[in-house]
Amino acid sequence: MSRPLTATIHLSTLRHNYLLAKRLHGGRVLAVVKANAYGHGAVRCASALASLVDGFAVATIEEAIQLREAGIDRPILLLEGWFEPCELVLIQQYDLWTALHSMAQIVDIEVANIHKPLTVWIKVDSGMHRLGINAGDFALAHARLLATGRIDKIVAMTHFSRADELDSQCTPQQIDRFTKAVAGLNVETSLSNSGSILAWPAAHGDWGRAGVMLYGGTSTDRVLPDWPLPVMNFDSKIIAVRELAAGEPLGYGARFHTDRPTRVGVVACGYADGYPRAVPTGTPVLVNGQRSRIIGRVSMDMLTVDLNDITGADVGSTVRLWGEGLPASEVAAAAGTIDYELFCNVKRAHQIYED
Ligand SMILES: *Cc1c(COP(=O)(O)O)cnc(C)c1O
Repeated sequence: MSRPLTATIHLSTLRHNYLLAKRLHGGRVLAVVKANAYGHGAVRCASALASLVDGFAVATIEEAIQLREAGIDRPILLLEGWFEPCELVLIQQYDLWTALHSMAQIVDIEVANIHKPLTVWIKVDSGMHRLGINAGDFALAHARLLATGRIDKIVAMTHFSRADELDSQCTPQQIDRFTKAVAGLNVETSLSNSGSILAWPAAHGDWGRAGVMLYGGTSTDRVLPDWPLPVMNFDSKIIAVRELAAGEPLGYGARFHTDRPTRVGVVACGYADGYPRAVPTGTPVLVNGQRSRIIGRVSMDMLTVDLNDITGADVGSTVRLWGEGLPASEVAAAAGTIDYELFCNVKRAHQIYED
């Protein structure tokens, strides 16, 4: 048997989470499958969702073309638009929707070698100050875009910087700025990512853009009885058991010393698999379904766990790194990051798809 590290992806749970996003949002919802569906496998996830969704969203044209070539025929939005004007030809060829985030890009559309009208989502900067045209310029951008004569439909989109913080005044302010910017213009709107779909019902607009919540991730504290469920179980096995006396060092840097005789499980998973090296001793894992802890440093291919107080643990026992029973967000917090990053980093694991 080969190395026992697996990422088991539950496609029915993915569909469940999408339908939850739809119900909470109340309008149409794009399933965001950028970055290989946050590490879950873009083609498999998009195929499982295709019959349910109002469309997909990705970050790059390569990601969009991969979906088209796999037979996905639902709308696909490029969330950051094009990076080079020549991509507009591919946007037309592959029948994609595109974001536009600067006035200068309107000229790209004017001069592009295209013959079909485009669906353009104008990105409005309502306070995040990353990509987007200034809110005050929206009406002008809208008029100029229409004047190109190359537009089928315009959607106004904005993105929140603090939607995962329930007590921040930032989101209401962004909503207000965006609402004023688009007032009186006949455009559909899109405001919400996962955090906003879950926590800011006032912000929903016509189109949601659900990313991490599809995969059961969320950086927001639970505020509703219905909550996304984990889609990935990231599991490995104990490949060796060591019995150490009290006072012995363990692993690189001898960062951990046993304070009592300790049964140590060596687990086939390390930072080269995407498990964060930054986690300290005490970070939770499930061994045979029982909560235990990482002891010592995570190394490239292995990590070590405390088997004292765990019943029945031996070579071959299952170790859950995250998934059902252990939210990735908990591991992420221990590493000083967010579950998004953990999901995206998973590699070298056998991907198993279950319905
Ligand atoms: C990635 C992305 C999303 C999805 O965000 P989540 O927090 O994962 O739901 C939504 N909108 C834009 C513009 C994005 O880039």
